[in-house]
Amino acid sequence: MAETRYQEAIEALAAAFGDRLGLTRPGGEAFLSPAGVEEARLMAEISNRYSVPLVPLGAGTGNGSTPEGPTPERGVLVRFDLMQDVRLPENDETWVEAGPGASWLNLDDELRARARGLAVYPTSAPRATVGGWLATDGLGVGSFEFGRLRENVLSATVVSARGDLREIPGEDLASLSRPEGSGSIVVGARLRTRRADADAPLAAAFGSAANLAATVESLSDSRPPLWHLAFLNPVLARARHLEGEYLLFGAYPREREEGVAGPLGEAVGKNRGRLLCAADAYRVWGERFFPVTPSAASVPEVVREVVPLTEVRDALARAEGRGTVATQGSVSRSGEALLLTFEEERL
Ligand SMILES: Cc1cc2nc3c(=O)[nH]c(=O)nc-3n(C[C@H](O)[C@H](O)[C@H](O)COP(=O)(O)OP(=O)(O)OC[C@H]3O[C@@H](n4cnc5c(N)ncnc54)[C@H](O)[C@@H]3O)c2cc1C
Repeated sequence: MAETRYQEAIEALAAAFGDRLGLTRPGGEAFLSPAGVEEARLMAEISNRYSVPLVPLGAGTGNGSTPEGPTPERGVLVRFDLMQDVRLPENDETWVEAGPGASWLNLDDELRARARGLAVYPTSAPRATVGGWLATDGLGVGSFEFGRLRENVLSATVVSARGDLREIPGEDLASLSRPEGSGSIVVGARLRTRRADADAPLAAAFGSAANLAATVESLSDSRPPLWHLAFLNPVLARARHLEGEYLLFGAYPREREEGVAGPLGEAVGKNRGRLLCAADAYRVWGERFFPVTPSAASVPEVVREVVPLTEVRDALARAEGRGTVATQGSVSRSGEALLLTFEEERL
């Protein structure tokens, strides 16, 4: 891109946005904070006119897009701090509307006031933004019952690279997460909620990766009515100040206790696991966001992959072979798990 086109674009954006166009540092990247959908459209129209790409930023938990990080070519960074608006469900509505800059944890906290919660959220929820997770799709807390994120998005409002506004259904979110990017920007979404007034946690410990993986597969077949199911290897358990074993944990609405207890006890028992007491289960559940906190200056680099459940055992064995790899998995109703791996020394 010719430097003059970039300079012309910056001048046009400065004329339209005034001091909401800034520089990350003197001589650094230009960034813009639109204050609503119309401004996001205007920003896209202007940058498209000069063929300058926009680079949307979330909280940087997906790695590869931090405010200080490199951009693929000279583009304008877009922050969504001014678009964190939330419209909570009224009456019998089961959807919440949120702006792209809203944090998943804040959104879930706000829903709690109405005895509701998000159907799914990422384990990076204290930092990750609505726009950032929608653009990367994935699965997370709640996926055992509700599946992938895209199955829980009624619609997303996006601004195309040319500045057109479109509503897309959740299943089309995959088009946003193509490696080359779509150039579209998420400016809002309607997300599925669930009743969440009385969840109970569960946790079990195992001596080996094989026994843990067999339990996960068994529960995926017998399908007790859990909301969430996840697991940790001993390296990550230790980092969370939990006992250094393979841990299985999750949560379910307390009213489903009867349907959960039998299949859970059977799967854990036949694979030589040990169910933990309620106090320990709460402790494991309370650490589900580690190592992400709302205030941490940065998050460690993570490798993120979705694998069939039949590959969980091998993935855990590979981590064990290397000794310093911390691994966690979230199980989806689709028979897949999202594996996140971190190097221990970065935690
Ligand atoms: C500890 C940890 C736990 C994690 N847990 C999960 C998990 O449970 N499930 C999971 O799927 N992933 C998980 N991740 C990966 C990552 O957190 C998620 O993908 C996350 O939701 C990204 O959100 P973000 O706001 O940090 O986006 P960023 O990392 O800032 O951005 C991610 C991508 O989205 C684009 N983007 C940002 N905002 C917009 C927008 N408004 N419109 C269009 N594109 C946009 C960016 O350009 C970038 O390409 C985890 C990561 C860490 C470090």
